[in-house]
Amino acid sequence: MSEIKTQLVVLGAGPGGYSAAFRAADLGIETVIIDARDTLGGVCLNVGCIPSKALLHVAKVIDDAKEMASHGVVFGEPKIDLDKVRGWKDSVVGQLTKGLSGMSKMRKVKFVQGYGKFTGSNTIEVEGKDGKTTISFDNAIIAAGSEPVSLPFIPSDDERVIDSTGALEMKDIPEKMLVLGGGIIGLEMGTVYRSLGSQIDVVEFLDQLIPAADKDVIKIYQKYVKDKFNVMLETKVTAVEAKKDGLYVTFEGKQAPAEPVKYDKVLVAVGRRPNGSLLDADKAGVKVDERGFINVDKQMRTNVSNIYAIGDLVGQPMLAHKAVHEGHVAAEVIAGKKHFFDPKCIPSVAYTDPEVAWVGLTEKEAKEQGVSYETASFPWAASGRAIASGRTEGMTKMIFEKDTNRVIGGAIIGINAGEMLGEIGLAIEMGADAEDVALTIHAHPTLNESIGLASEIFEGSITDLP
Ligand code: FAD
Repeated sequence: MSEIKTQLVVLGAGPGGYSAAFRAADLGIETVIIDARDTLGGVCLNVGCIPSKALLHVAKVIDDAKEMASHGVVFGEPKIDLDKVRGWKDSVVGQLTKGLSGMSKMRKVKFVQGYGKFTGSNTIEVEGKDGKTTISFDNAIIAAGSEPVSLPFIPSDDERVIDSTGALEMKDIPEKMLVLGGGIIGLEMGTVYRSLGSQIDVVEFLDQLIPAADKDVIKIYQKYVKDKFNVMLETKVTAVEAKKDGLYVTFEGKQAPAEPVKYDKVLVAVGRRPNGSLLDADKAGVKVDERGFINVDKQMRTNVSNIYAIGDLVGQPMLAHKAVHEGHVAAEVIAGKKHFFDPKCIPSVAYTDPEVAWVGLTEKEAKEQGVSYETASFPWAASGRAIASGRTEGMTKMIFEKDTNRVIGGAIIGINAGEMLGEIGLAIEMGADAEDVALTIHAHPTLNESIGLASEIFEGSITDLP
């Protein structure tokens, strides 16, 4: 058993954990980071954001090449070499995790591989491939993330039932796959597998896909994917029977097929569960709620004054960029700075085709919170760039506060929506109003012009000169 004494220990090396560790080291704090994986990067780099985007890139090229036929350029049918596709995805992940390892060494952050559990409010024990390590610390940041939720009525020991991690392994391309859950992760993986040749059914319990986004935005998405996915809304799976020739799925609800349907694979994508309950946090006196979340204040401090928590396990939205910013705050507070995690908005993006992105208040949230608002939308059918790209299905929607005309939310559906969303996020953070955005000269022809144009349509964007 080896022993380490350090000023700060970070438990979990995902985007939250490594960002916190790097910031702390930059601020002169001696830092140790622990992860059960062999590499830094957590879920996001190893089995989340990054590998999924590498595969979505492959999917996009296939789809774009097919679409070219209607513009007069015909490519042959794609030949898929699955080993090479997997190799490409793994090389992207490898490049990034190697980069993180270099940055960690440069900062003298010590990496301890293994599974860590608290043994007190100043000690963690780590069980790794090289044996046990006891770490005593002055401060700790818990950044242990989350894992996919499984469903009790679905066989978990059948390799044809997969979660997002299994889907990213790309063992084969099933002829027919059910995506159980119409959220972002399920739809992104469905997009990949469809482009590679699978027939995809999507089942969603609620009355729209990507339930967190506004209905008018999602209506456009649902219309676009109508011929690509068979979507069953307001429908649930009640049983999955594993037989030799396939998985027989029974549905119930509005669009449920009368008989069980046979699938080659079922991807369960019904959400993620925080890992808070797996850390013996009670031995350190840290409170974990019944779902596994750890409650923190605006400085990311738990109920124990020297222990902080960040990322997926402190609450929604479970997104990498939220974890990164929380990690920075925790490290800065430990270094004695009076910083707070107090963003006006956190962007959400589904990197589907088309992309769906929103930031700030949705209309749904504005109504729930009793906020007086008005909206202005610009359809991409009137955007020169969208027409020239053959992708006019998009829409840019701005949400303004009624009395002040301030930008309080925005949503974009269309190609590159995720890249475009940053401008609306900045407008919200900076307290910009409709006139500010409308008077900002956007380059022509860009898709970003639609943000200026949507603001220009809004009557509050023109005020009289004094
Ligand atoms: P995680 O990334 O979950 O990392 C936690 C780490 O802690 C893990 O490496 C784990 O091994 C380690 N750990 C846990 N317990 C212990 C322990 N006791 N001892 C040692 N180590 C431990 N988010 C986005 O913002 N954009 C996206 O495009 C996006 N795409 C995604 C796609 C998929 C398929 C998935 C699954 C997720 C995606 N996410 C995306 C979500 C994103 O991955 C998470 O929000 C983010 O990784 C959370 O970061 P984190 O630092 O909280 O923890």
